[in-house]
Amino acid sequence: MKCKNIVCFTIAWVCMFNLFVGFISCSRDQYINECIDINDKYDENKYKFNLINLWGGKAAVVDKGGYYLFQGDILLKKHELDTLSTRGAARIDKRWDNNKVYYVLSGFPSQYSANIFSAMANIEENSYLRFIPRLENESNYIELVYENKDEWVAYSDYIGCKGGKQEIHLSNDACEIVGVIIHELCHALGLYHEMCRVDRDDYVKIDFSVMNDEERHQFKTYTDLEEEGVDVGNFDFNSIMMYSSFMNDKVVMTKLDGSIIIAQRAKLSSGDKVALAKAQPAVLYTFYSYYTEDGNIDSDLKYQRVKYLRCPEGANIKFKFQQYFSPSSASWGNYSLEDFDIKTTISFINDDSGEIFQSKLIPMKQTSGYEDSFFTIQFPEGRYRVIVSLSGAVKGESNSSKLSVLKKIMYNPRIYLHLEQVLINNLKIKIPNGFEYPADVRSETFISI
Ligand SMILES: [Zn+2]
Repeated sequence: MKCKNIVCFTIAWVCMFNLFVGFISCSRDQYINECIDINDKYDENKYKFNLINLWGGKAAVVDKGGYYLFQGDILLKKHELDTLSTRGAARIDKRWDNNKVYYVLSGFPSQYSANIFSAMANIEENSYLRFIPRLENESNYIELVYENKDEWVAYSDYIGCKGGKQEIHLSNDACEIVGVIIHELCHALGLYHEMCRVDRDDYVKIDFSVMNDEERHQFKTYTDLEEEGVDVGNFDFNSIMMYSSFMNDKVVMTKLDGSIIIAQRAKLSSGDKVALAKAQPAVLYTFYSYYTEDGNIDSDLKYQRVKYLRCPEGANIKFKFQQYFSPSSASWGNYSLEDFDIKTTISFINDDSGEIFQSKLIPMKQTSGYEDSFFTIQFPEGRYRVIVSLSGAVKGESNSSKLSVLKKIMYNPRIYLHLEQVLINNLKIKIPNGFEYPADVRSETFISI
C-alpha cells in the first residue's frame, strides 16, 4: 500500500496559493484588510465612531445603524449588546462545548462549500476542535451564509461561541480564498486580529495620520479588555489573523524597520495553533486519525499503524504498552524465538519538522497473557505522528523453512499502545473510556496491531 505524503500535500497547497497571490496580490491584500463591503465607502454622516462597553472593557466600534462594526470584520448586533457586555472576557469564556462546533451552510455553490470544508479541515488538523453539521437542532451553531455578490463581504458576528446562532457571511471573492474562510472561522473560535494585541507597538508601526476613522478603529488594541484570554504567545507576523501593510491603496502599517507586511491567508501559523489551543483547550485527550495520510502497512513481515497526537505546551503523556505473544509449540517447528528478531518500534515524529522526536524499540517476548509496561514522555508543543510498527526478521542465515515459520508466527502478536494518563501543565486531561463515550471516540485512545 503506497502512502500519501502529508508534507507534499501541504506544500502543493501553499504553492497553489502563492501562484494565486501572484495574480491578485494588491487587491487581495486590500480586500482582506477591508474585510467588509468594499463598495460601502466611509461616510462621516452615515457612521459614528463610538466607544462602547464590550466584554468587560472599552472597545472602539463604528456605528452602522442596526449593528456595530468591531475590528473591521466583526459585527455586533446592538440589541444583543446588553447581554454581551456583561459576559466578561470573550475569548476564553466563550468556548464551544466539548470542542464541538456545529455549523450550517446556507446557499453556497459546491466549489465554495469545498473551500469551506478545506478551511475546516485545516483547523481540525491543528486544534482540538471538530466541525459537525447541525442535524439535530443543536442550540449553539454557526450559520455560514453565502452572499452572491461581486463586492467583498467577509465577516463574523462574534468572537468565540455566542450562544444560539451566530453568522459568518462570505461573498464570491471571499469564498475563493481558503485562508479568508479560516480567518473568519477563527473569530468564531475566539481569535482577535493579531495587530490589535496590547504589545503590538513593540512589533509594528502604525500610521494613523493617513487613515480615516473607520480605518483607524480597526487598529485599536484591546488594552482595556480583561487580560485573561487575550494572551496568545508571541506576536506573530505569520498569523492568519494579521493584516497586511495596505489598506485602500495606502501603507498604513509596517514592521518597525519600515518593511512591508504581507498577510498570509493560506493556513494557520504555528502561533495560531497555540492561540487556538488556548482558546479551546483539550477537554478529552485522544489520538486521532488523519484522513489524507495512510501509513498503515500489512505485509508478511511488517505490520504498522499510524495515528496523530496534538500536544500543546506542557504536555506530559504516560503510555501503556501491552503485548501478547504465545504461539503454539506446533507453530515454531524446529525453531524458537531465539532464531528470529521480532520487535515493536514506536516512533514519535514531529510533523512540522519531519524529525523523529523519540523512538522506542521493544523486543518481542513470549508471554502467557497480556504484559504491560509504561513509559512517560514530555512533549514540546506540536503535532506528532505516532507510528507503531511490528517487524520480523530471520536471525543469521535465512532459509525457506525458517522464513515460512516466521511468516506464520507474525500473525500471532497482539500489540497495543494506550494513552494512560495525560497532564497538560500539570492539569489532568480526561481520556475517554468506553462507558461514557461512543466507541469511535474510545478507539482513538489506543493504537493496536
Ligand atoms: Zn477579521
